[in-house]
Amino acid sequence: MASPFDLSGKVAAVTGANAGLGRAIAEALAAAGADVACIGRSEPAETVAAIQALGRKCAWIAADLGARPDHAAIIAGVVGKLGGLHILVNNAGIIRRANAIDFSEADWDAVLDVNLKSVFFLSQAAARHMIPNGGGKIINIASMLSFQGGIRVPSYTASKSGIAGLTKLLANEWAASGINVNAIAPGYFATNNTAALQADVKRNAEIIGRIPAGRWGDPRDLGGAAVFLASSAANYVQGVILPVDGGWLAR
Ligand code: NAP
Repeated sequence: MASPFDLSGKVAAVTGANAGLGRAIAEALAAAGADVACIGRSEPAETVAAIQALGRKCAWIAADLGARPDHAAIIAGVVGKLGGLHILVNNAGIIRRANAIDFSEADWDAVLDVNLKSVFFLSQAAARHMIPNGGGKIINIASMLSFQGGIRVPSYTASKSGIAGLTKLLANEWAASGINVNAIAPGYFATNNTAALQADVKRNAEIIGRIPAGRWGDPRDLGGAAVFLASSAANYVQGVILPVDGGWLAR
């Protein structure tokens, strides 16, 4: 009997797959059998090489998701290069730090454009392809700040709280059309996105001290959740925001 986690014959698209969590998710989906399109502004040479070494196809679809791109053209590019689209992972994201009292409109717009606006319109373009082709899976990357307030990251918290709501809305609208929309909420993972926190000796110690697992997440810790939500094992899972956080939210 085939594994319910087998992604053979599926095409996945992952935004921001050249680095960090997106790269680890792309490689995990490929290891489960999927061909992968990497959507992003930086060439994902290492990701492409790793996925091809697994015997899967991998293509780069160049796009700056913060520059109001043509989302329909991005999805058409995925379908044109890899022959379909069954799984979309909206992973690309940025963060800007400043006290709320000083926070600029430019830092507000930059974060909301990549982390929320582009997620909606790329999901819409993907769903317009998936619905007439039998459905699919959309996985958004949320955050602990989809549940908590955080500090000095107002646009990031707004975007990730928005992702939690958007995930549930899209699940409600598209479940009957065969699309599962869910999110993964990573805890504290060691990537470029958290480099400033890791480098701050005091904050680093505070963070590790509050994580029951006692360590930062390794990007590879996200692979299992991504494969699960991308697979037929999750066919009856809708609108979930799944924490993968070493126990942070349980504390
Ligand atoms: P990262 O290492 O900084 O990677 C971010 C990715 O997003 C990169 O591939 C980046 O591409 C891409 N990206 C940023 N702006 C883009 C744009 N305008 N157009 C296209 N691609 C763009 O960060 P990460 O930690 O892996 O973060 C991945 C996701 O997880 C984000 O949504 C983040 O908010 C979320 N997250 C991370 C953590 C954590 O602890 N690390 C925790 C919770 C949630 P470039 O290399 O070209 O910039």
